[in-house]
Amino acid sequence: MAAIVVAIANQKGGVGKTTSAVNLAASLAIHHQQRVLVVDMDATQANATLALGHRPGEAGELPFSHVLTARTEGSTADAPRPQVTDCLVKTKIENLYLIPADKGLLLVPAYKYDMLARAMIPLKEYFNFIVIDTPPSLSLLTHAALHAADTVLVPCEQSRFSLEGLADLLDVIETVTANRPDVDPATFYRVMLTKVDSRLKRSGEYTERELATHKERLYAAQIRRTDSLNQAHAAGLPIFHFDPSSLGAEDYAELTKEFLAYESQRTAPHPVG
Ligand code: ADP
Ligand code: MG
Repeated sequence: MAAIVVAIANQKGGVGKTTSAVNLAASLAIHHQQRVLVVDMDATQANATLALGHRPGEAGELPFSHVLTARTEGSTADAPRPQVTDCLVKTKIENLYLIPADKGLLLVPAYKYDMLARAMIPLKEYFNFIVIDTPPSLSLLTHAALHAADTVLVPCEQSRFSLEGLADLLDVIETVTANRPDVDPATFYRVMLTKVDSRLKRSGEYTERELATHKERLYAAQIRRTDSLNQAHAAGLPIFHFDPSSLGAEDYAELTKEFLAYESQRTAPHPVG
């Protein structure tokens, strides 16, 4: 097993990053029997941690920042190097694990941009997928996630406002791929539409025009605007446990199927079934 690392990124807040991270991860675990880890890199808001029914520190887990900032020369027999496996928290969902958000991540020095990629290496043997949720900024933590990722999912709210910021994110992604001979820039990121309101025809037309340049990268599956996703988030549950017959559950299950099909094609012959 060697996990596929998926970063969910968009520097705009409220576009559905966390909702997508949690529900993609949950669908992979629940519907596709994959072993999945969610890494919450949104140190300030910790929304993915909360949406999976945890509070940072509650499970007595090792704070993730301790692993990321550990230095080899600091480890002795008395003070062994902190292990990333001690940061793992089991969620209520079988096969779904979490590395909770940790405010200490905010203090990680900028030169450690490759810290996350390094920390993921031992975990790749345990999981099929590692889903990284990122903060609403192009900060070090987002850079670190892009650097660690095999593939990037960019949720975009179907409205003019959120599409405007896409260019800045794509510039950063381009910088990352330029330094990553291991990834193919043509397939590194894909865009998905969230909070889609099919009644807003004008907004739909705008989105299509705006996204014309990303056409091959756009998910056919779209996430409709539905209060069930809000309620599930507030209840600390993935949508599939909160209301499996909701629109939100239907849309995220569909998105996950498309994600898996795309990943198995992109990474063939990697086994993902
Ligand atoms: P981000 O992580 O990008 O800041 P979130 O996933 O936290 O965005 O979503 C922001 C808010 O919008 C949350 O309250 C969430 O429950 C809600 N939300 C996300 N997706 C949808 C949707 N498809 N329909 C309705 N509400 C949504
Ligand atoms: Mg978020």
